[in-house]
Amino acid sequence: MKTSRDIIVIGLGGMGSAAACHLAARGQRVLGLERFGPAHNRGSSHGGSRITRQSYFEDPAYVPLLLRSYELFAKLERDTGRDIATLCGGVMLGRPDSRTVAGSLRSAQEWGLPHELLDAKEVRRRFPTLTPGEDEVALYEERAGFVRPEATVTAHVQLALQAGAELRFEEPVTRWEVLPGGKGVRVHTADDVYTAGHLVVCPGAWAPRLLAGLGIGFAIERQVMYWFQPPGGTAPFEPGRHPIYIWEDAEGVQIYGFPAIEGPDGGAKVAFFRKGSDCDPETIDRTVAEEEVAAMAAQLAPRIPALPGRLRKAVTCMYTTTSDEHFVLARHPAHPDSVTVACGFSGHGFKFVPVIGEIVADLALNGTTEHPIALFDPLRAPLGQSATPEGETTT
Ligand SMILES: Cc1cc2nc3c(=O)[nH]c(=O)nc-3n(C[C@H](O)[C@H](O)[C@H](O)COP(=O)(O)OP(=O)(O)OC[C@H]3O[C@@H](n4cnc5c(N)ncnc54)[C@H](O)[C@@H]3O)c2cc1C
Repeated sequence: MKTSRDIIVIGLGGMGSAAACHLAARGQRVLGLERFGPAHNRGSSHGGSRITRQSYFEDPAYVPLLLRSYELFAKLERDTGRDIATLCGGVMLGRPDSRTVAGSLRSAQEWGLPHELLDAKEVRRRFPTLTPGEDEVALYEERAGFVRPEATVTAHVQLALQAGAELRFEEPVTRWEVLPGGKGVRVHTADDVYTAGHLVVCPGAWAPRLLAGLGIGFAIERQVMYWFQPPGGTAPFEPGRHPIYIWEDAEGVQIYGFPAIEGPDGGAKVAFFRKGSDCDPETIDRTVAEEEVAAMAAQLAPRIPALPGRLRKAVTCMYTTTSDEHFVLARHPAHPDSVTVACGFSGHGFKFVPVIGEIVADLALNGTTEHPIALFDPLRAPLGQSATPEGETTT
């Protein structure tokens, strides 16, 4: 048994590394425990790029968090000298009544965010690689772009260490428990046992194991990212010329993609937003079948005909999705004095990473936050669960 810490953070992926950073910066004695190495590729925070945008089609309630997240990403870049965020502009494409276009417009209007509405002809003129149908339009947002997930995690890890956090990698947590009488928590790993006054759990796709007591049904989804090499060269796809895009078809299927940010031979990344298959993080199939590549190429062919050339690589990743696709961010309902949880980011969490770190630090230290997080209540009706103190165990 080691000296007790103020706070233990389980999971040092996107959210946990940010939480450790913010907690250590506020003078807490932090112990972070991670089963893999720093900025690894076996969870949800890898693959070189993540879309960021403010005209949020999912719900306008996310917008104030995004405004703060943008500030914190900029601060992270200043504090570490790393290249993390690139605001290359973004287009949300589809029919005018699609969720992608109508929802983005709603957020933009509600929050007075700068945006432009483009008809199909104007999209083709401004962004010649994109060939929307005549019945499609786009919302263009200048402040959309992408952030680099591995650089973000590395930066938060670096700052957490600089602020005195102890971060232990390759050390899986096997179980945790709340000590009787509000005396904190005990965490068991493969190597040791640790105690602390408070526990923060940021388990990503391992939420069903580490947070079983929340009673929330998370869908763990296997997702594939594809890098295609444009046959005519990457020049038209360079970040200075090419926006990020989210494109919804008439059936509601969304794809999204990025400029070519990995050099002339790195291809440009594209993926389906929500067309995953159920998986388990321990047994996920990381090989990508030819039929999957063909389905992606077929979706791209009419929309971005210059893109689907040779496949450079295809990499799997996991979503941890709640039934309403909103996050879970709160004190643990069954252990409100001792445990804070951040999970269920439902495939759209990365752009929020720094603000989640700030909110987790607020919740862990004060039990409350000034940020608007009512949407992420673990006891909200659509999740239909009941939290129990039992069952928080095992990897
Ligand atoms: C293909 C793909 C594309 C995406 N695109 C976007 C996008 O464009 N924009 C966007 O905003 N979001 C996007 N997301 C979502 C976003 O990346 C995730 O919401 C975010 O990375 C989740 O972070 P996390 O900290 O919850 O999970 P992770 O980063 O996976 O961290 C969880 C950590 O917990 C550790 N852990 C688990 N169990 C244990 C244990 N027992 N002991 C110790 N450590 C443990 C894991 O090893 C892991 O490091 C995408 C996700 C994927 C997969």
